[in-house]
Amino acid sequence: MTTSQAYDLVIIGGGPGGLTAGIYAMRAAMKTVLVERGVTGGQVVMSDEVENYPGFEHTSGAELAMKFLEHAQAYGLEILSQEVSEVEPGLNYHHVHLADGRTLDTHAVILATGGSPRKLGIPGEDEYYGRGVSYCAVCDGFFFRNKTVVVVGGGDTATEEALYLAKLAAKVYLVHRRDELRASKILQKRVMDDCKIEILWNTVTTAIKAGTDGVEAVTLEDTVSGQTRDLLTDGVFIFIGFEPNNQIVPAGVRMNADGNVMTDEKCETALQGIFAIGDLREKYARQIVISAADGSTAALAAAHYVETQKGQSSTACEIPADFVEESAELGALPK
Ligand code: NAP
Repeated sequence: MTTSQAYDLVIIGGGPGGLTAGIYAMRAAMKTVLVERGVTGGQVVMSDEVENYPGFEHTSGAELAMKFLEHAQAYGLEILSQEVSEVEPGLNYHHVHLADGRTLDTHAVILATGGSPRKLGIPGEDEYYGRGVSYCAVCDGFFFRNKTVVVVGGGDTATEEALYLAKLAAKVYLVHRRDELRASKILQKRVMDDCKIEILWNTVTTAIKAGTDGVEAVTLEDTVSGQTRDLLTDGVFIFIGFEPNNQIVPAGVRMNADGNVMTDEKCETALQGIFAIGDLREKYARQIVISAADGSTAALAAAHYVETQKGQSSTACEIPADFVEESAELGALPK
Protein backbone atom coordinates (compact mmCIF):
# COMPACT_ATOMS: atom_id res chain seq x y z
CA MET A 1 0.00 0.00 0.00
CA THR A 2 1.34 3.48 -0.81
CA THR A 3 0.84 6.47 1.46
CA SER A 4 1.63 10.12 0.86
CA GLN A 5 2.64 13.09 3.00
CA ALA A 6 2.59 16.80 2.06
CA TYR A 7 5.53 19.15 2.48
CA ASP A 8 6.57 22.63 1.40
CA LEU A 9 10.05 21.43 0.51
CA VAL A 10 11.79 18.09 0.04
CA ILE A 11 15.59 18.19 -0.05
CA ILE A 12 17.21 15.14 -1.63
CA GLY A 13 20.76 14.62 -0.41
CA GLY A 14 22.44 15.33 2.93
CA GLY A 15 25.81 16.81 1.99
CA PRO A 16 26.92 20.38 2.79
CA GLY A 17 24.51 21.78 0.17
CA GLY A 18 21.48 19.82 1.32
CA LEU A 19 22.10 20.47 5.02
CA THR A 20 22.62 24.20 4.42
CA ALA A 21 19.38 24.27 2.44
CA GLY A 22 17.77 22.54 5.43
CA ILE A 23 19.00 25.24 7.84
CA TYR A 24 17.67 28.03 5.62
CA ALA A 25 14.40 26.23 4.95
CA MET A 26 13.71 25.73 8.66
CA ARG A 27 14.48 29.39 9.33
CA ALA A 28 11.99 30.27 6.59
CA ALA A 29 9.38 28.17 8.46
CA MET A 30 8.85 25.77 5.56
CA LYS A 31 7.60 22.26 6.32
CA THR A 32 10.72 20.48 5.16
CA VAL A 33 12.16 17.00 5.04
CA LEU A 34 15.65 16.00 3.93
CA VAL A 35 15.94 12.53 2.38
CA GLU A 36 19.35 10.86 2.42
CA ARG A 37 20.05 7.30 1.27
CA GLY A 38 23.46 6.89 2.90
CA VAL A 39 25.52 8.67 5.52
CA THR A 40 24.55 12.29 6.17
CA GLY A 41 27.46 14.60 5.33
CA GLY A 42 28.14 13.59 1.74
CA GLN A 43 31.51 13.18 0.02
CA VAL A 44 33.20 15.59 2.42
CA VAL A 45 33.05 12.96 5.16
CA MET A 46 35.79 11.12 3.27
CA SER A 47 38.19 14.12 3.37
CA ASP A 48 40.85 13.85 6.02
CA GLU A 49 41.70 17.54 6.00
CA VAL A 50 39.66 20.60 5.10
CA GLU A 51 41.61 23.85 5.18
CA ASN A 52 39.59 26.20 3.02
CA TYR A 53 36.15 26.41 4.61
CA PRO A 54 35.97 29.96 5.99
CA GLY A 55 36.18 30.11 9.74
CA PHE A 56 37.84 26.71 9.97
CA GLU A 57 41.56 27.01 9.33
CA HIS A 58 41.95 23.31 9.82
CA THR A 59 39.31 20.65 10.32
CA SER A 60 38.38 17.20 9.03
CA GLY A 61 35.57 16.54 6.56
CA ALA A 62 33.78 14.35 9.10
CA GLU A 63 33.92 17.06 11.78
CA LEU A 64 32.68 19.76 9.43
CA ALA A 65 29.84 17.52 8.22
CA MET A 66 28.86 16.80 11.84
CA LYS A 67 28.68 20.53 12.54
CA PHE A 68 26.41 21.05 9.51
CA LEU A 69 24.17 18.22 10.70
CA GLU A 70 23.99 19.46 14.30
CA HIS A 71 23.18 22.96 13.05
CA ALA A 72 20.33 21.67 10.86
CA GLN A 73 19.01 19.46 13.66
CA ALA A 74 19.07 22.38 16.09
CA TYR A 75 16.38 23.94 13.88
CA GLY A 76 14.40 20.70 13.97
CA LEU A 77 15.03 19.57 10.38
CA GLU A 78 13.32 16.23 9.71
CA ILE A 79 15.77 13.74 8.18
CA LEU A 80 14.53 10.60 6.47
CA SER A 81 16.94 7.74 5.82
CA GLN A 82 15.55 6.48 2.52
CA GLU A 83 16.35 6.12 -1.15
CA VAL A 84 14.41 8.28 -3.62
CA SER A 85 13.32 6.22 -6.59
CA GLU A 86 11.72 8.96 -8.70
CA VAL A 87 10.92 12.65 -8.78
CA GLU A 88 7.66 13.17 -10.63
CA PRO A 89 6.97 16.80 -11.51
CA GLY A 90 3.41 18.06 -10.99
CA LEU A 91 1.52 21.33 -11.33
CA ASN A 92 1.10 22.60 -7.78
CA TYR A 93 2.69 19.62 -6.08
CA HIS A 94 5.71 17.62 -7.20
CA HIS A 95 5.82 13.99 -6.09
CA VAL A 96 8.94 12.41 -4.57
CA HIS A 97 8.61 8.63 -4.64
CA LEU A 98 10.61 6.65 -2.07
CA ALA A 99 12.00 3.16 -2.47
CA ASP A 100 9.80 1.95 0.40
CA GLY A 101 6.66 2.81 -1.60
CA ARG A 102 5.79 6.08 0.13
CA THR A 103 5.30 9.35 -1.76
CA LEU A 104 6.12 12.83 -0.53
CA ASP A 105 3.96 15.54 -2.14
CA THR A 106 5.79 18.83 -2.10
CA HIS A 107 5.61 22.31 -3.56
CA ALA A 108 9.37 22.51 -4.05
CA VAL A 109 12.24 20.04 -4.44
CA ILE A 110 15.95 20.68 -4.00
CA LEU A 111 18.12 18.08 -5.75
CA ALA A 112 21.38 17.88 -3.77
CA THR A 113 22.52 14.42 -4.78
CA GLY A 114 26.19 15.31 -5.38
CA GLY A 115 28.49 12.98 -7.27
CA SER A 116 30.24 9.62 -7.08
CA PRO A 117 33.89 8.79 -7.80
CA ARG A 118 34.63 8.40 -11.51
CA LYS A 119 36.05 5.03 -12.48
CA LEU A 120 39.04 4.29 -14.68
CA GLY A 121 37.21 1.45 -16.41
CA ILE A 122 40.27 -0.79 -16.61
CA PRO A 123 40.64 -4.54 -16.07
CA GLY A 124 40.86 -5.41 -12.36
CA GLU A 125 39.21 -2.20 -11.09
CA ASP A 126 35.81 -3.70 -10.29
CA GLU A 127 37.11 -7.21 -9.57
CA TYR A 128 39.54 -6.06 -6.85
CA TYR A 129 37.46 -3.26 -5.33
CA GLY A 130 37.78 -3.74 -1.57
CA ARG A 131 40.79 -6.05 -2.05
CA GLY A 132 43.31 -3.30 -2.74
CA VAL A 133 41.33 -0.99 -5.01
CA SER A 134 39.79 1.96 -3.18
CA TYR A 135 38.18 5.37 -3.76
CA CYS A 136 38.61 6.57 -0.15
CA ALA A 137 41.97 7.01 1.58
CA VAL A 138 40.44 7.94 4.94
CA CYS A 139 38.34 4.75 4.89
CA ASP A 140 41.01 2.29 3.69
CA GLY A 141 44.40 3.95 4.23
CA PHE A 142 44.88 2.18 7.54
CA PHE A 143 45.22 -1.18 5.75
CA PHE A 144 48.28 0.09 3.89
CA ARG A 145 50.51 1.08 6.81
CA ASN A 146 54.16 0.73 5.75
CA LYS A 147 53.12 -0.61 2.37
CA THR A 148 53.33 0.68 -1.19
CA VAL A 149 50.35 2.35 -2.82
CA VAL A 150 49.54 3.89 -6.18
CA VAL A 151 47.34 6.99 -6.35
CA VAL A 152 45.81 7.76 -9.75
CA GLY A 153 44.89 11.36 -10.66
CA GLY A 154 46.31 14.86 -10.64
CA GLY A 155 43.58 17.05 -9.12
CA ASP A 156 42.97 18.40 -5.62
CA THR A 157 41.50 15.12 -4.43
CA ALA A 158 44.35 12.91 -5.68
CA THR A 159 47.03 15.18 -4.20
CA GLU A 160 45.24 15.59 -0.86
CA GLU A 161 44.72 11.85 -0.58
CA ALA A 162 48.32 11.10 -1.63
CA LEU A 163 49.50 13.39 1.19
CA TYR A 164 47.22 11.59 3.63
CA LEU A 165 48.43 8.17 2.49
CA ALA A 166 52.08 9.28 2.71
CA LYS A 167 51.58 9.59 6.49
CA LEU A 168 50.74 5.87 6.64
CA ALA A 169 52.35 4.09 3.71
CA ALA A 170 56.03 3.48 3.08
CA LYS A 171 55.82 4.70 -0.52
CA VAL A 172 53.22 6.52 -2.61
CA TYR A 173 53.34 6.67 -6.42
CA LEU A 174 51.18 9.46 -7.82
CA VAL A 175 50.33 8.43 -11.37
CA HIS A 176 49.25 11.32 -13.58
CA ARG A 177 48.42 11.26 -17.26
CA ARG A 178 49.98 14.67 -18.04
CA ASP A 179 53.20 16.56 -17.25
CA GLU A 180 51.44 19.08 -15.00
CA LEU A 181 49.14 18.62 -12.02
CA ARG A 182 45.65 20.11 -12.04
CA ALA A 183 45.69 20.54 -8.25
CA SER A 184 46.00 23.94 -6.53
CA LYS A 185 49.56 25.31 -6.22
CA ILE A 186 49.68 24.82 -2.45
CA LEU A 187 48.86 21.10 -2.80
CA GLN A 188 51.31 20.71 -5.71
CA LYS A 189 54.09 22.12 -3.56
CA ARG A 190 53.25 19.86 -0.62
CA VAL A 191 53.22 16.77 -2.82
CA MET A 192 56.53 17.65 -4.43
CA ASP A 193 58.09 18.35 -1.03
CA ASP A 194 56.97 15.01 0.42
CA CYS A 195 59.88 12.57 0.21
CA LYS A 196 57.56 9.54 0.30
CA ILE A 197 55.65 10.62 -2.81
CA GLU A 198 57.02 9.98 -6.29
CA ILE A 199 55.12 11.44 -9.23
CA LEU A 200 55.01 9.35 -12.39
CA TRP A 201 54.31 11.93 -15.11
CA ASN A 202 52.71 11.22 -18.50
CA THR A 203 51.62 7.83 -17.27
CA VAL A 204 48.32 6.00 -17.44
CA THR A 205 47.22 2.91 -15.55
CA THR A 206 45.92 0.28 -17.93
CA ALA A 207 45.33 -2.74 -15.67
CA ILE A 208 45.29 -3.83 -12.03
CA LYS A 209 46.65 -7.26 -11.20
CA ALA A 210 46.05 -9.28 -8.05
CA GLY A 211 46.90 -12.54 -6.35
CA THR A 212 45.12 -14.44 -3.60
CA ASP A 213 45.89 -11.72 -1.01
CA GLY A 214 44.66 -8.83 -3.16
CA VAL A 215 46.31 -6.27 -5.44
CA GLU A 216 49.92 -7.00 -6.38
CA ALA A 217 50.72 -4.70 -9.30
CA VAL A 218 49.49 -2.16 -11.82
CA THR A 219 50.32 -2.02 -15.49
CA LEU A 220 51.49 1.44 -16.50
CA GLU A 221 51.89 2.97 -19.93
CA ASP A 222 54.14 5.93 -20.70
CA THR A 223 52.04 8.20 -22.91
CA VAL A 224 55.15 9.71 -24.56
CA SER A 225 57.19 6.61 -25.35
CA GLY A 226 54.29 4.15 -25.43
CA GLN A 227 56.30 1.73 -23.25
CA THR A 228 54.46 -0.41 -20.72
CA ARG A 229 55.65 -1.94 -17.47
CA ASP A 230 54.29 -3.50 -14.29
CA LEU A 231 54.80 -1.69 -10.98
CA LEU A 232 54.49 -3.70 -7.77
CA THR A 233 52.01 -2.19 -5.30
CA ASP A 234 49.76 -3.28 -2.45
CA GLY A 235 46.95 -0.87 -3.20
CA VAL A 236 45.47 1.41 -5.85
CA PHE A 237 43.57 4.58 -4.89
CA ILE A 238 41.65 6.18 -7.74
CA PHE A 239 40.77 9.90 -7.62
CA ILE A 240 40.02 11.03 -11.15
CA GLY A 241 37.01 13.22 -10.54
CA PHE A 242 33.33 12.75 -9.94
CA GLU A 243 30.27 11.81 -11.97
CA PRO A 244 27.12 13.70 -11.00
CA ASN A 245 24.46 11.53 -9.34
CA ASN A 246 21.74 12.50 -11.81
CA GLN A 247 19.75 9.26 -11.98
CA ILE A 248 16.63 10.76 -10.40
CA VAL A 249 16.74 14.09 -12.24
CA PRO A 250 13.31 14.21 -13.91
CA ALA A 251 12.79 14.53 -17.66
CA GLY A 252 12.42 18.16 -18.64
CA VAL A 253 15.36 19.33 -16.51
CA ARG A 254 18.22 20.47 -18.74
CA MET A 255 21.66 18.88 -18.27
CA ASN A 256 25.01 19.59 -19.94
CA ALA A 257 27.16 17.03 -21.75
CA ASP A 258 28.78 15.96 -18.45
CA GLY A 259 25.39 15.25 -16.89
CA ASN A 260 25.38 18.30 -14.61
CA VAL A 261 22.05 20.06 -14.15
CA MET A 262 21.77 23.53 -15.67
CA THR A 263 20.04 26.13 -13.51
CA ASP A 264 19.48 29.87 -13.33
CA GLU A 265 21.10 32.06 -10.67
CA LYS A 266 18.44 30.96 -8.15
CA CYS A 267 19.58 27.35 -8.69
CA GLU A 268 16.16 26.68 -10.25
CA THR A 269 16.01 24.15 -13.08
CA ALA A 270 13.91 24.38 -16.23
CA LEU A 271 11.02 22.99 -14.13
CA GLN A 272 9.46 25.48 -11.73
CA GLY A 273 9.91 24.62 -8.08
CA ILE A 274 12.66 22.07 -8.79
CA PHE A 275 16.13 23.28 -7.80
CA ALA A 276 19.59 21.71 -8.15
CA ILE A 277 22.61 22.53 -6.02
CA GLY A 278 26.18 21.50 -5.18
CA ASP A 279 28.16 19.05 -7.29
CA LEU A 280 25.07 18.05 -9.26
CA ARG A 281 24.75 21.57 -10.69
CA GLU A 282 26.82 22.91 -13.58
CA LYS A 283 29.34 25.39 -12.21
CA TYR A 284 32.91 26.68 -12.49
CA ALA A 285 34.35 25.24 -9.26
CA ARG A 286 33.39 22.48 -6.86
CA GLN A 287 34.01 23.48 -3.27
CA ILE A 288 32.25 22.81 0.04
CA VAL A 289 31.63 26.52 0.47
CA ILE A 290 30.01 26.72 -2.97
CA SER A 291 27.69 23.79 -2.24
CA ALA A 292 26.70 25.50 1.00
CA ALA A 293 26.11 28.77 -0.86
CA ASP A 294 23.98 26.94 -3.44
CA GLY A 295 21.95 25.44 -0.57
CA SER A 296 21.15 28.85 0.89
CA THR A 297 20.28 30.32 -2.52
CA ALA A 298 17.98 27.46 -3.45
CA ALA A 299 16.22 27.42 -0.06
CA LEU A 300 15.57 31.17 -0.17
CA ALA A 301 14.27 30.92 -3.74
CA ALA A 302 12.18 27.87 -2.80
CA ALA A 303 10.64 29.77 0.12
CA HIS A 304 9.57 32.53 -2.26
CA TYR A 305 8.21 29.97 -4.73
CA VAL A 306 6.25 28.11 -2.03
CA GLU A 307 4.73 31.34 -0.75
CA THR A 308 3.60 32.18 -4.27
CA GLN A 309 2.15 28.70 -4.77
CA LYS A 310 0.27 28.83 -1.49
CA GLY A 311 -1.05 32.29 -2.32
CA GLN A 312 -2.40 30.96 -5.60
CA SER A 313 -3.89 27.91 -3.88
CA SER A 314 -5.69 29.98 -1.23
CA THR A 315 -7.47 32.05 -3.91
CA ALA A 316 -8.62 28.69 -5.34
CA CYS A 317 -10.52 27.83 -2.11
CA GLU A 318 -7.20 26.61 -0.54
CA ILE A 319 -7.43 23.28 -2.35
CA PRO A 320 -4.20 22.41 -4.21
CA ALA A 321 -4.73 22.40 -8.00
CA ASP A 322 -3.32 18.87 -8.35
CA PHE A 323 -5.69 17.65 -5.69
CA VAL A 324 -8.69 19.19 -7.46
CA GLU A 325 -7.70 17.61 -10.77
CA GLU A 326 -6.94 14.21 -9.30
CA SER A 327 -10.10 14.20 -7.16
CA ALA A 328 -12.23 15.25 -10.12
CA GLU A 329 -10.82 12.33 -12.10
CA LEU A 330 -11.87 10.02 -9.27
CA GLY A 331 -15.34 11.60 -9.28
CA ALA A 332 -14.97 13.13 -5.79
CA LEU A 333 -15.26 16.74 -6.96
CA PRO A 334 -17.07 18.38 -9.89
CA LYS A 335 -14.68 19.27 -12.73
P1 NAP B 1 39.29 16.94 -10.96
O1 NAP B 1 39.68 18.30 -10.51
O2 NAP B 1 38.33 16.80 -12.07
O3 NAP B 1 40.65 16.18 -11.33
C1 NAP B 1 40.61 14.90 -11.85
C2 NAP B 1 42.04 14.46 -12.15
O4 NAP B 1 41.99 13.14 -12.62
C3 NAP B 1 42.72 15.32 -13.20
O5 NAP B 1 44.07 15.49 -12.89
C4 NAP B 1 42.55 14.49 -14.46
O6 NAP B 1 43.61 14.64 -15.37
C5 NAP B 1 42.58 13.08 -13.91
N1 NAP B 1 41.79 12.18 -14.73
C6 NAP B 1 40.50 12.30 -15.14
N2 NAP B 1 40.11 11.23 -15.85
C7 NAP B 1 41.19 10.42 -15.91
C8 NAP B 1 41.41 9.16 -16.50
N3 NAP B 1 40.45 8.49 -17.19
N4 NAP B 1 42.63 8.60 -16.37
C9 NAP B 1 43.60 9.23 -15.68
N5 NAP B 1 43.45 10.43 -15.09
C10 NAP B 1 42.25 11.00 -15.20
O7 NAP B 1 38.69 16.05 -9.77
P2 NAP B 1 38.97 16.11 -8.20
O8 NAP B 1 40.40 16.22 -7.91
O9 NAP B 1 38.22 14.98 -7.62
O10 NAP B 1 38.26 17.46 -7.75
C11 NAP B 1 36.87 17.64 -8.04
C12 NAP B 1 36.49 19.07 -7.63
O11 NAP B 1 36.54 19.17 -6.20
C13 NAP B 1 37.47 20.11 -8.17
O12 NAP B 1 36.75 21.26 -8.51
C14 NAP B 1 38.38 20.39 -6.99
O13 NAP B 1 38.95 21.68 -7.01
C15 NAP B 1 37.43 20.20 -5.82
N6 NAP B 1 38.17 19.80 -4.62
C16 NAP B 1 38.66 20.78 -3.84
C17 NAP B 1 39.38 20.46 -2.72
C18 NAP B 1 39.94 21.56 -1.88
O14 NAP B 1 39.74 22.72 -2.22
N7 NAP B 1 40.61 21.27 -0.80
C19 NAP B 1 39.62 19.12 -2.39
C20 NAP B 1 39.11 18.12 -3.22
C21 NAP B 1 38.40 18.49 -4.34
P3 NAP B 1 43.80 16.00 -16.21
O15 NAP B 1 44.34 16.99 -15.26
O16 NAP B 1 44.74 15.61 -17.28
O17 NAP B 1 42.43 16.35 -16.73
